[in-house]
Amino acid sequence: MTGHGFARCVFAALLVFALPTFAATPAKRVVLPDAVTPEHYRIDFTPDIEGLTFEGSVEIDVKVNRATTTIVLNAADLVIDSAMLADEAKLPKVTLDDKVQTVTLTFDQPLAPGPRKLALTYHGTIYQSASGLFALDYQAPKGSPKPQARALFTQFENSDARRFVPCWDEPGIKATFELSANLPADLLPISNMPVAATRKLAGGLQHVAFAKSPKMSTYLLFFGAGDFERVHRMVQGVDVGIVVKRGDTANAAYALDATAELLPYYNDYFGTPYPLPKLDLVAGPGSSQFFGAMENWGAIFYFERFLLMDPKVSTQSDKQYVYSVIAHEVAHQWFGDLVTMAWWDDLWLNEGFASWMANKATDHFNPAWKVWLQSLPQTHSVMQRDARDGTHAIIQPIEDVAQAANAFDDITYYKGAAVIRALESHVGEAAFRAGVRRYMREHKYGNTVTDDLWAAIGKETAAPVPQIAHDYTLQAGVPMVNMLSSKCAGGKTKLSLNQTHFAIDEDSTAARVWHLPVKVAVLGQAPTGAIISGEKPSPVTVAGCGAVVLNAGQAGYLRSHYSSEGFAAVMARFADLTPDDQLGLLMDTQSLASNGVQPMSNYLDLTKQVPVSVDPVVASTLTNQLQGMDIYFNGRPNQPAYRAYARGVLKPLFARVGWDARAGESDNTTILRNDLIAALNDLGDPEVIAENRARFEKYLANPASFSADARGSLLRNVAVQADAAVWERLLQMVKGASSEMERQQLYKLLGAAQDDAISQRALALALSGEVPPTLAPGIISSAASRHPEVALDFAIKNWDQISKMLEVTSALQYLPRLTGNSTDLATVDKLNAFAAAHVPENARQDYVLATARVRYLAKVRATRLPEVDRWLAAQ
Ligand SMILES: [Zn+2]
Repeated sequence: MTGHGFARCVFAALLVFALPTFAATPAKRVVLPDAVTPEHYRIDFTPDIEGLTFEGSVEIDVKVNRATTTIVLNAADLVIDSAMLADEAKLPKVTLDDKVQTVTLTFDQPLAPGPRKLALTYHGTIYQSASGLFALDYQAPKGSPKPQARALFTQFENSDARRFVPCWDEPGIKATFELSANLPADLLPISNMPVAATRKLAGGLQHVAFAKSPKMSTYLLFFGAGDFERVHRMVQGVDVGIVVKRGDTANAAYALDATAELLPYYNDYFGTPYPLPKLDLVAGPGSSQFFGAMENWGAIFYFERFLLMDPKVSTQSDKQYVYSVIAHEVAHQWFGDLVTMAWWDDLWLNEGFASWMANKATDHFNPAWKVWLQSLPQTHSVMQRDARDGTHAIIQPIEDVAQAANAFDDITYYKGAAVIRALESHVGEAAFRAGVRRYMREHKYGNTVTDDLWAAIGKETAAPVPQIAHDYTLQAGVPMVNMLSSKCAGGKTKLSLNQTHFAIDEDSTAARVWHLPVKVAVLGQAPTGAIISGEKPSPVTVAGCGAVVLNAGQAGYLRSHYSSEGFAAVMARFADLTPDDQLGLLMDTQSLASNGVQPMSNYLDLTKQVPVSVDPVVASTLTNQLQGMDIYFNGRPNQPAYRAYARGVLKPLFARVGWDARAGESDNTTILRNDLIAALNDLGDPEVIAENRARFEKYLANPASFSADARGSLLRNVAVQADAAVWERLLQMVKGASSEMERQQLYKLLGAAQDDAISQRALALALSGEVPPTLAPGIISSAASRHPEVALDFAIKNWDQISKMLEVTSALQYLPRLTGNSTDLATVDKLNAFAAAHVPENARQDYVLATARVRYLAKVRATRLPEVDRWLAAQ
């Protein structure tokens, strides 16, 4: 998936406590007994779309592998109406277990080994948030008989297929599927496979049968139906389609073009052609707090802002994100769908790989976006988290559904992607791709563990892949390379380097050893590769003399720690570094200074070395750093001095890009402009705030005169600075929104105000019943970014109401996500108390991580700001 930051694929994030290193190839965890396993499912169902229930029947071709008196499969929130095994005289006894989400069929006599047919009828619930079979409501297109429309979709990862059909709901138990449905005749149905047959039924209904799927995991099954339109194109023999609400086809053109260029690229990269006859990307209105898109095989689901370009609201940044989410989900059609991890332990094989592949493919087609450079802040952010309590190894033991839901985190996605990048950089692009092709060829339609990938790559290279890979994937934490000394002699630089463990929390400072590939260069010279391991100094000789760059090119997952002389030398040449190395130095220095490894003045001095001509991505990173650090100063007397300094760094950058887009400027410059205006706005720059107000009046008078980027930036900034009158105007705009995407954007902005009283109004609005249930939690999240403690108290107090708006499997992960900007230690106690009362003990990773973050922010605030004060006073 893709979270928000991820696809559940696209994204989410978190984990376990002290993690023992465990075997490289963990045993496959079979939760269900394997005495009986499925081969093929025939599922037929009838939704009651108004009543939000459905009836289903399933016939499963099973194999009895050994004599047994029970068949155990998964079911959750289903009522079993009948169960029978063909050729069995007596009906089995049916027992449901809600806790482990199983249905057990018990027979009087042992079943003999061999093929059998199992038939069940049942009924269940259509949810209103994205799990199982769910409905999303939206404003019907103009001219519709009813003001509201409703569409159906499914979301089964990680373990919610069992809410739709009794099944062996584990990724390692693959089978084929034939799905059919009885639906109103005016709805367009979509599943993994094309429609094979449609027949009219009485009462305005249709019976739709989809073609038989290839062998696949249950979590990848998909069904959707609604008042849809589909735009499509044949690409290398595959019917590629974008499915949208009626009226939205113009907004799908970008996604169709992107998918049409990505599919041939992946066919080539993976060496195994996409195996299904069609590939649909399906857009649904609304939102989830936990994911953006899901890679169902042949029928990828997206919340529409991750797929469609609405000319009124979609910005350059949205366009880049849409492309990368498409690239991520389409990569999963191979990595995840064709070859699937045997169990959730190896989820990173899906998500880390898809995230890395998305960067690679997006960069290939859009080099001007500098995707790898843009990915570095994310890598550094996950390193911060990987250095705190609650981190986990990339490969981690997962025992059950709740733990699996926790595994969709930044470690899995972004550390996973960074490690793959580091390994590719180490073995070389060609050998790595050859290994991936071999892996696809050898494991298609099957399941794997991580070592299967290393083995395949290992056959294509002489480089020692497994040792390096195991160190990265089987132990948590961040390696740090230290420059101990550096001497120039005879036109060469002799360095002494070692490797330690960069850790933030005291109890995670145990010595840890990696076999760490590192590239080192004297500025302007080609880098030298070395493997650095452990605290014993390693000599490394590099060509040339001058400023030395550690992790040159920034492809390694590590922190670079310079000696003070080394730091002074590289800082003095900041303007001459590549953008990657500039960005790496900014991020490493901020982290090491905040953690007391280096003086705060290193970072603050460095910010003054950034030239106004710096790459826009580096400038955006600096902007976000300075804006983000403002939370440390909240409620402190020196906040005005900090803000004045930060504005002093940013204003020359802003003077260079200006208020208005210039003809021919890069997309990244447009994004930088919006970042700078947002930061200056939030840092209280009076000129910027006044200009935003003036522009807001112009916007209200003539909205069409603003581009989507100018509009998005403007509304975001006036929402942050909103008084009651501006907030009321934004609320009126929600009511007049021309699309679901616009409505969703505006609702979120209503939660963004800095003002305490306005923020309270937004919280009340979220639970007023006026806001659609999938959007209301987003208003609270938005308020939490500026008022984390208030939003947390509010969410705890109203938990009964809020939890009903969240996906059932992920709901408990919502609260910790509200506290990312809290520096108040009371937040730690509140989260712990909530977890103790509501969260199963083995599913509290998000709580451990969130509390570690709050403690870290509080510690930086308490211990590091005095140095900043002194530095500011000396300016
Ligand atoms: Zn994914």
